[in-house]
Amino acid sequence: MDFSSKLVGQAVDEVSRLPGIGKRTALRLVLHLLKQPQDQTVRLADALIKLRTQVNFCDTCHNISDAPRCEICADRNRDRQLICVVEDIRDVMAIESTGQYRGLYHVLGGKISPMDGIGPGELTIQSLVQRVEEDEVNEIIFALSSTMEGDTTNFYIYKQLEGTPVKTSTISRGISVGDELEYADEVTLGRSILHRIPFENSLKSS
Ligand SMILES: [Zn+2]
Repeated sequence: MDFSSKLVGQAVDEVSRLPGIGKRTALRLVLHLLKQPQDQTVRLADALIKLRTQVNFCDTCHNISDAPRCEICADRNRDRQLICVVEDIRDVMAIESTGQYRGLYHVLGGKISPMDGIGPGELTIQSLVQRVEEDEVNEIIFALSSTMEGDTTNFYIYKQLEGTPVKTSTISRGISVGDELEYADEVTLGRSILHRIPFENSLKSS
């Protein structure tokens, strides 16, 4: 695309780097921004800068957080013996919205996927093992989507925790295979956490 303004061209280039946004859509968005009152666009830019420079990840569970310790980990009313292992923060949000879970979380940051070059070292698995060893953790609940990558990741972590007294369980599958957690409705997801099954049982059935 040829632009009569280098600045417009630059903005279109940057916006089109976002997932799912081609050059045409980027141009439409940029022209939209130009039509908006200036202060509205300045607020957007300001929010984006703050997002990248000030948002932290919780030192303990790797959930997104404005402080070194997230609100969930800091909440003394939560069951600290229970850790729900999820892929990313969207899953934390989905499970929180069920209102059925009062334990803590551990955000892996993805799933083991050799095809995409993601090995165990790219995820926060070691920090989970450390939490199990150092904190009073009684049970780990696997709540990854039941894809091949999810199953591989569960099994890898399960193996890492072998020899520790921690119980491992997996959310029951009212959720069909391949469904992402964030698309499950709240009632189904809440129920699948309450009716979780020992992880060993899920191995036998597959
Ligand atoms: Zn946390």
